[in-house]
Amino acid sequence: MKERGLLIVLSGPSGVGKGTVRKAIFSQPDTKFQYSISMTTRKPREGEVDGVDYFFKSKEEFEELIQNDKLLEWAEYVGNYYGTPIDYVESTLQEGKDVFLEIEVQGALQVRKAFPEGLFIFLAPPSLKELKNRIVTRGTETDDLILNRMKVAKEEIEMMDAYDYVVENDQVELACDRINAIVTAEHCRRDRVARRYKQMLEVDF
Ligand code: 5GP
Repeated sequence: MKERGLLIVLSGPSGVGKGTVRKAIFSQPDTKFQYSISMTTRKPREGEVDGVDYFFKSKEEFEELIQNDKLLEWAEYVGNYYGTPIDYVESTLQEGKDVFLEIEVQGALQVRKAFPEGLFIFLAPPSLKELKNRIVTRGTETDDLILNRMKVAKEEIEMMDAYDYVVENDQVELACDRINAIVTAEHCRRDRVARRYKQMLEVDF
């Protein structure tokens, strides 16, 4: 029997650059991860292709997927539904391939419950201070709004507790390197490797 792949979940606060890091990882020619394309009810942005960037669904279609337990997790984010198709994730893991999800934090918590053996990576802003600087230098927000953003960010950063690793997104390239290193290390974990050797012995003798 083939060893199951790893379920890799990249999540983190909104605006931290999850999508940018994910796209950078998948633009590397030697990436071995399989990207799980999400379902969403939001409208395609210019240049986005159905079945490549997302599977674009109507609200009714999405609700039917929820009803029929076709989603590993789903969340409502800024007025739209987003969710991960369970069949693709299951069959790809079964083939021994690593599946990569890039999702917001509510969804990641649901995946943690369903797949506690997954690899949960939290993408963090370089520092709270820098987050504030970034918000302030945008120059468009009032003090109240900035404070509110900071409060939300603080809460989201407290969510790190639900993850195995934290990767700072100081530079996209460095963040990608760290994620690749984490996955490599995870494949070398003693319990995974020992299981593989034990199975090998069972077959041969
Ligand atoms: P966008 O609309 O900018 O493509 O994505 C908005 C947010 O939805 C991002 O934080 C992205 O990580 C998240 N997202 C994308 N796909 C999924 C999904 O399948 N499930 C969940 N929970 N969030 C998702």
